[in-house]
Amino acid sequence: MLLKPKDYKLLQEEIKRLKREKNAVILAHYYQRPEIQEIADFVGDSLDLARKATEVSADIILFCGVHFMGETAKILNPDKRVLLPEPKAGCAMADMATKEAVLKLKDMYPNAWVVSYVNTTAEVKTISDVCCTSANAVKIVEKVPTDEIIFVPDKGLAYHLSKKVRGKKIIPFEGFCPDHYLFTADMLQRLKEKYPDAPVGVHPETPPEIQDRADFVGSTSQLLRWATSTELKADRVIIITEIGLQYPLQKRNPYRGYIFPTPDEGVGYLFCSQMKIITLEKVYESLKEEKNEVDLPEEVIEKANLSIKRMLDWS
Ligand code: SF4
Repeated sequence: MLLKPKDYKLLQEEIKRLKREKNAVILAHYYQRPEIQEIADFVGDSLDLARKATEVSADIILFCGVHFMGETAKILNPDKRVLLPEPKAGCAMADMATKEAVLKLKDMYPNAWVVSYVNTTAEVKTISDVCCTSANAVKIVEKVPTDEIIFVPDKGLAYHLSKKVRGKKIIPFEGFCPDHYLFTADMLQRLKEKYPDAPVGVHPETPPEIQDRADFVGSTSQLLRWATSTELKADRVIIITEIGLQYPLQKRNPYRGYIFPTPDEGVGYLFCSQMKIITLEKVYESLKEEKNEVDLPEEVIEKANLSIKRMLDWS
């Protein structure tokens, strides 16, 4: 069903009413569609959302994000009902790291701690020593007591860590974000030639050759802070990450231009289709019918909770 702008407003009002009636709270990732960010009680990156999930007093958490994010909210709130508007919304990078594959790496490096990016399944979190997000990864890895670290699953973020953290051997799992890895050095070169005055900020999920050519490498929330800062002397900036970040950037500092990879720029979208299959209509249906609840075995919740809690304590 395609909605007209005036119908969006009506649906948004109805979702707000349901939220009050059911004592529900909506958490949304920055990659969500703008009309969903508008009705969320809290919008953030993975770290912000994990923290927020520990502070929620509502009976229902409606999580607008991909599957592992809903799982993380459930692990942190085992007694609450966590709903996903679209349970099929998954993360291809998280799915690359199976529990069996990580256990194999653990066998090869028995003294290494396993640090898991929050973009992993709950199963993988049960065999991880600590989790991290792109916002706190450097801090977490620096605190790990072993010299060898198995980093799961993102080899882009592992590359960023190997450059930032001294004295640790980072053993990367060979996973990656298929959306961020579509962007090439040649595409970046074209954008730089078109906008020679614009500094470049990139997410660490991008390939190493992109990170090496950037002025700033940071998580979603760090990119948001950097690109909207009044201390940055630039009329426009090039941002290489998911297009959803454009909305909060413009909201926070509308006086600057934000250049994203788009077909208009001749480089195609950097677009997470999984994040975008969540629509306002699905948010409404899930909340109205209280459907698509995240359900995890108690044992998985208990074990996975240790690695997430350790991350929150350390960050
Ligand atoms: S942008 Fe990449 S890492 Fe993020 S949810 Fe989508 S597939 Fe996963």
